[in-house]
Amino acid sequence: MKILLNNSSLFESLRPFDDIGFVPTMGGIHEGHLSLISKSKSLCKKTIVSIFINPKQFNNQQDLKSYPRNIKKDLKILKKSKKVDFVYLPKFKDIYKDKKKSKITLQKKDNILCAKFRKGHFEGVLDVMNKLTKIVKPKKIFMGEKDFQQLYLVRKELGKKYKTKVIPCKTVRDRNNVALSSRNLLLNKSNLIIAAKIYEKLVSIKKYIKNSKNIKTFLNLQKKELKNNYKIKIDYLELRNINNLKISSSNKNSRLFIAYYLNNVRLIDNL
Ligand code: AMP
Repeated sequence: MKILLNNSSLFESLRPFDDIGFVPTMGGIHEGHLSLISKSKSLCKKTIVSIFINPKQFNNQQDLKSYPRNIKKDLKILKKSKKVDFVYLPKFKDIYKDKKKSKITLQKKDNILCAKFRKGHFEGVLDVMNKLTKIVKPKKIFMGEKDFQQLYLVRKELGKKYKTKVIPCKTVRDRNNVALSSRNLLLNKSNLIIAAKIYEKLVSIKKYIKNSKNIKTFLNLQKKELKNNYKIKIDYLELRNINNLKISSSNKNSRLFIAYYLNNVRLIDNL
């Protein structure tokens, strides 16, 4: 596993290869990331993982400050997996060397779910993904369905400019079905127990949606119940179509999306 600390060492190391699988991350490596890496390893000749906490996608400075950072541990896990050929650890200037302002703006219809609650977040994500794709030139990029809206928007954006394919990967969960996330490191045991209960509740909501005549009213009621039972703040609880992310009126081709706060940590999930 070769560690690439800047763009010139990346260009030199990747030059001989044209079948590169890319797993972009912000570190805090967990089994979710490792599942993306395994998929890349099985579909591509070489696998590169990047670790870069992109400040431009944080709409909340406290969130950026408290985001888990442990590069030593991350490198140890990646090395132990024996599936990673290159780890790219760019500095800010490697990504943002041209000072041109990014022209990315979301379409009005995409200003939903996390885009509505985290102003500027996806503009930052799309900008960094554009830049990373230009630098790494991967054949395939592996991204998790846990961040479904991110996957949807990145796929759409990169599809306009690059041949690179974005490959979706299933959400990996812990033994209590809580979706793995680097942010879970900021949760205590009792928070994680609540997160597991919320997952169970979401499963039952999804199941009962199909009997409900008015999904919006049903979900509003469920949202209130979740808020009261677990004393959590909920940004959204919505059923949306997986192909266009429009509000759904049936379970068909749909997922239930949630964003909520536990211990001041913002968590998202969909099922
Ligand atoms: P992050 O480091 O949180 O920016 O995530 C890097 C990539 O890993 C993104 O494509 C995420 O969607 C993906 N990812 C994060 N958590 C999980 C998970 N529990 N299961 C599958 N993929 C995940």
